[in-house]
Amino acid sequence: MPVFFQSRAGRQCLSILALGVTLWIIGITLDLGNWLAAFVSAFRDYGADKLAFALVIGGAMSFVYSALRIVDLRREMEVRVSAQAKADWTATHDHLTKLPNRYAFERKVIPRWTTSEDDGESHMTDVTIFSVDLDGFKKVNDLVGHSGGDALLIEVAKRICAIGHADCVYRFGGDEFVIVAVGLPARQADRFARLLIQAVTRPIHIDGFAMEVGASVGYDGWAQDREPLEAAAQRADLAMYEAKSRGPNRHMLFEPAMQDKVTKRASLETKLRAAIQKKAIRPFYQPLVNLKTGDVCGFEALARWTSEDGETIPPVVFIGIAEETGMITALFEDLLARACRDALDWDENIVLSFNLSPVQMEDRLLASRILRVLAANDLPAARLEIEITENALIKDPDAAALILDELHAAGVKIALDDFGTGYSSLAQLARYRFDKIKIDRSFIATYGEDERQEKIVRAMLALGRSLNIQTTAEGIEDYRQLNHLLQLGCDIGQGYLFGKPMPSGEVLSFINEGRDIDRARLPVTLALPH
Ligand code: C2E
Ligand code: MG
Ligand code: MG
Repeated sequence: MPVFFQSRAGRQCLSILALGVTLWIIGITLDLGNWLAAFVSAFRDYGADKLAFALVIGGAMSFVYSALRIVDLRREMEVRVSAQAKADWTATHDHLTKLPNRYAFERKVIPRWTTSEDDGESHMTDVTIFSVDLDGFKKVNDLVGHSGGDALLIEVAKRICAIGHADCVYRFGGDEFVIVAVGLPARQADRFARLLIQAVTRPIHIDGFAMEVGASVGYDGWAQDREPLEAAAQRADLAMYEAKSRGPNRHMLFEPAMQDKVTKRASLETKLRAAIQKKAIRPFYQPLVNLKTGDVCGFEALARWTSEDGETIPPVVFIGIAEETGMITALFEDLLARACRDALDWDENIVLSFNLSPVQMEDRLLASRILRVLAANDLPAARLEIEITENALIKDPDAAALILDELHAAGVKIALDDFGTGYSSLAQLARYRFDKIKIDRSFIATYGEDERQEKIVRAMLALGRSLNIQTTAEGIEDYRQLNHLLQLGCDIGQGYLFGKPMPSGEVLSFINEGRDIDRARLPVTLALPH
């Protein structure tokens, strides 16, 4: 039966047609035609013939009118159907690359992919989900603008689609793509991941620039009969994040340990939130010793956290979580306020050194926040030294310069921490006015064993001297290292040899009783004065 007659309108049309035919048959049977003719001629004087004629014309006109309306209605319906299809496409596709989006992925009713094997039985086809995230995409936007970034994404999408087995490619937003590879044997998934990386990393020419981006890839197989497709996509995502954390252009198959890591991380985040609220994270203080006079010239505040279940969590772990979750500002302000109050008990010439994390440099109000904490706790700005790493200056050097200038103007000193481990140490030294550079402890650890390291430390100290910037050597653990540094004229020393980070209650006795340094083990001419 034609489709039209299956619709409501079609059914109505059939019913009316049937009614008309029935009435016509009844009319013929009862000879109503002759009766009508007789009626019209009997009442012709009263205009019955004209009325009958008008009714016939009216009926025909109504028929034409209805036919026209039906055509209109059809057109209207076509427009509506096409608008609906357009809206559906818009909701389920990414406009830029024209690939289906996350919504399409979630909404898609995935058929069970099966194949018939030689043995006549049907087997589940291998389906592997790949999650791809570009590495270094942001720098493309910075270099060639957003339109250039768009062009790159379009090209990347094309390249991914061109790889065999990339049956369904989705763009999940930003620079993240998901590929459902159907029929890709599990043993070839690793090769496929490498193909993906190769496809993405080939240079892409935009506005005369040969742009190169990387790709991190995570993947896992889909257990079709046991789980929704999203579950496999989630695992592929976790594997991708793990690959990304290990550096660019890596690919990894999902492992259950990755899930454990995420679960642990989530529970740590909850505990950290509570710890910050309860002020359970405390500053410890590690002495900084003036190598020219032997006096303690400062203390570096280092955050310490022992969770309620007695686990000691290292600062690099919880500071990282605080940075990612935006808790760093609250943690920082609390620790700084406490450290300022502790520092009031020390000699006036002992400075408080405090670490800033790189994400804090994105906070335009940072300088005023710091100065407000100082004022609220009555610590003079000149007694505070802020330690920042080179990474903190990379993201937005101009904004960083504004913050550092404001702090400098108020009298706060600035130290460049972990010097030599970041991106562009010399460029940083040329750009900002630092009061101090802290040579990273990795250079001191192999000091005396590795001649090249020794030369680098020598050069760093010479650089500091010529720029009139004080140098601190971090991580001094033994007399051999200390002796070398004394001979080279390093200004300040920090390390377990002088003292480990200690709670505030031990700082005063440390200052009064002095360090447990065996002067007999120092070179006679350079021995630290008493
Ligand atoms: P950092 O600022 O370079 O701090 C020096 C690190 O070296 C500290 O580790 C300190 O305990 C360790 N250290 C000092 N002397 C020696 C030594 O002789 N031998 C060895 N092996 N290690 C030594 P810690 O406390 O684990 O802190 C690690 C990093 O975490 C710090 O590196 C700093 O970047 C960050 N951090 C610590 N506390 C805070 C904080 O309150 N705020 C921020 N933003 N970062 C912090
Ligand atoms: Mg530091
Ligand atoms: Mg350091």
